[in-house]
Amino acid sequence: MALSPEVREHVRARGDCAGEFCGVTETDAGGPMTVDHYRPRAADGDDDPDNLVYCCTHCNQYKADYWPTKPENPSLWHPRREPAERHVVLTEDGTLRPLTATGEFTIRRLRLNRPPLVAHRLRKQREAEADRLLRKYRGTLVLLADMQQEHTGLMEEHRSLLREQRRLLKLFLGEEP
Ligand SMILES: [Zn+2]
Repeated sequence: MALSPEVREHVRARGDCAGEFCGVTETDAGGPMTVDHYRPRAADGDDDPDNLVYCCTHCNQYKADYWPTKPENPSLWHPRREPAERHVVLTEDGTLRPLTATGEFTIRRLRLNRPPLVAHRLRKQREAEADRLLRKYRGTLVLLADMQQEHTGLMEEHRSLLREQRRLLKLFLGEEP
């Protein structure tokens, strides 16, 4: 039986409209994604929301009906049961490096280092860096404006001190102020 639209929407909203394995959003992908059964139906997985993962079509295709059936079979990372950082780390070149056997297997099975995904991560990193620089630049501008204002005030104070000094000097020299 197909999943109800309500369940699909629940899984979609819960996943912030982004593929939970790879992090690509609907906006990035240009359309809605699929709902994957973490434990496939073919392996007796049910429709309980806990077994459902919002998933882009590519990750879903690569994952397919994988389910470990023997003790030596590696398990896939479950995006909501454990944080990604436990199994993989994002490197500067945009690739994911495994930290555990689960991480290693998930990267391999879902091709999480496929070139378009790596390019996507690098673009996100560049955007984040550009954002950070822009915020820093704005902060500097505000600071400069404050300094300018302070400087103007000091100059004004300095000018009035000079006027005062001139008056005193004229008084001292017996001139009319
Ligand atoms: Zn994906």
